[in-house]
Amino acid sequence: MTNKRQLRKWVTGFAIAALTTGLALPAQAKQEGYSSSKAAYKFTQPVKVQQLASKNLAKKVSVNDDKVMGPADPSYKMDVKYDSKTHKLTGKMNVSFKNNVKDNLSELYFNLWGKADFFKDNGGSMDVSDIRVNGKKAESDVKDTALHIKNLSLVKNRTATVTMNFTVNFPEQQDRFGWYGDTVSMGNWFPILSVYDEEGWNVDPYYNAGESFYSLTGNFDVKVTTDRKQVIAATGTEEGKPAMDGELATHHYKAENVRDFAMEMNPTYKILSSKVNGVKVNVYYDDKYAKYAASLLESGKDSIKLYSEKFGKYPWPELDVVSMEGWFGGMEYPQLVMISLNEKRSQEWVKSVNAHEIGHQWFYGIIGDNEYDEPWLDESFASYAAALYDNSLDELNVPPLSDTYYHVSSKVSDFTAKGDPGISAYYYMIYDYGSTTLNDLRLELGDEAFYKAMKAYFKEKKFGISTTKDFISAMERSTKQDLSPFFRDHRVFPSDQN
Ligand SMILES: [Zn+2]
Repeated sequence: MTNKRQLRKWVTGFAIAALTTGLALPAQAKQEGYSSSKAAYKFTQPVKVQQLASKNLAKKVSVNDDKVMGPADPSYKMDVKYDSKTHKLTGKMNVSFKNNVKDNLSELYFNLWGKADFFKDNGGSMDVSDIRVNGKKAESDVKDTALHIKNLSLVKNRTATVTMNFTVNFPEQQDRFGWYGDTVSMGNWFPILSVYDEEGWNVDPYYNAGESFYSLTGNFDVKVTTDRKQVIAATGTEEGKPAMDGELATHHYKAENVRDFAMEMNPTYKILSSKVNGVKVNVYYDDKYAKYAASLLESGKDSIKLYSEKFGKYPWPELDVVSMEGWFGGMEYPQLVMISLNEKRSQEWVKSVNAHEIGHQWFYGIIGDNEYDEPWLDESFASYAAALYDNSLDELNVPPLSDTYYHVSSKVSDFTAKGDPGISAYYYMIYDYGSTTLNDLRLELGDEAFYKAMKAYFKEKKFGISTTKDFISAMERSTKQDLSPFFRDHRVFPSDQN
């Protein structure tokens, strides 16, 4: 996600809190006053972030001593119907996976992000029913955004299948999940399997100003029936032409090796497409934002080319860049990025935000991470990628905050536990100082060794999950150097995640 871009030249400490007030805005807040340069974007509204009171909210419901990560190889099949008038989606889901977790696995968790409090006031909800595991009706309960399926006994190394019906009411709000006017943003819109890792099941709370998302890569086969006039951008590739039935059309999408599935629809969307490195790039825009379409296409192609060369090859056949409106700059999903526009955006801003979100295709999409526990592993890297695209790496030179409580490798909740100053510190330490840290590493190692190590990291973690420890280890192995003093000096601590 981008809520803003590098805040450069702030000196230290809480000077930034005052200057960055309003980065995380309530959905209907107005943004204004951003400059056309890449400097700070100012907002008029105060911060109102859903507070995450303490670390304890990062619920780890059991402990795993085996260092496994699962359930493995999830394969989702969904058949859903979206009503454009009521903004209600109903559907069925079937997800198969391998139980690599343990013998007699007794429980599973899914994240129901649409249930987050953040969406409730505007009519958002997500409910599940008729849950079956391997055909048998299963016991379950829901607490906050976590669906707990219990009293199971799943055999290790066998495939299991969960089926359920689900209903989603999209909130009326300009967000990654919501609708306004003719536009519907479908991010985090279906029940998604939680990850079981060395900390147990990950069912962290929803975090509106960043991400709590964490999922393993798998395959998706999604059928969506809706108003035939809708123009839909989606993760994956559409299979053939939609099947028409009166006023309705059924679209069929397939995606491989992706950790999520998002869509964006609007009946007035036009599409501008081109190819780069064999990848089809599609820009979806409506008349209001036609003036940005060429910039989105150009920066989309250029960033795919640049990051493929510097980090590793873009692995999917398509990328959709969709224009929408939101309180943030942009949002990333596999093969789909949402760019939040308004008429005052400069072409440079649009290109740079697009380059940041496309950077996430590498850091989050291809190389996954636990976005709640280690947000720097995707945000600092996407910010670095955007600066690389902008040709402004030399501007990544901010100092760390003077308050040593804040680490680059801290969890989201370590920041938000401090209220507003913590939220400002989050943006500063993760986006600005985190990308500075990566640039410092490049300067320390030299371009050749740095990008060689980044490629080795990409190869090792492609379609997997990385941790801070994994990143440091990959860089050390590739460069044959002890980088622990460098990371310690930059407040990157692998122990933060234990
Ligand atoms: Zn981001």
